Amino acid sequence: MHQGRTDQQSRAQEDPTIMLTLSDLMWEPEVNWRADAACSGINSDLFFPPGDDDPSPEQTRKAKEICAQCPVQEACLQYSLATNQAAGVWGGLDAGERRRMRRRIRDRERRRAS
Ligand code: SF4
Repeated sequence: MHQGRTDQQSRAQEDPTIMLTLSDLMWEPEVNWRADAACSGINSDLFFPPGDDDPSPEQTRKAKEICAQCPVQEACLQYSLATNQAAGVWGGLDAGERRRMRRRIRDRERRRAS
């Protein structure tokens, strides 16, 4: 049986927003996925620096490396988008990347609706 990825799956690997829609942003958040989080037991300061400090590029890189190995990365990212998490690394993306992802999803949905 052919196990290759579809074109859409390949494109989604490069740009995860392809698979997301506005309804995903309004998705009813669940938190069951947290039990399988790769960051469980890791100092949360790596993902969420204390105070108002932005994470250093090195912190962000290390956090993203952990996310890249995480079995619940997609659920984590979806949760962060649905609940509009403004800080830290979620689902392998930093705050700026998530803001841009939300903007791209909304822009695409507006174009579809017009
Ligand atoms: S994707 Fe990253 S932040 Fe989210 S649960 Fe996994 S390791 Fe933690």
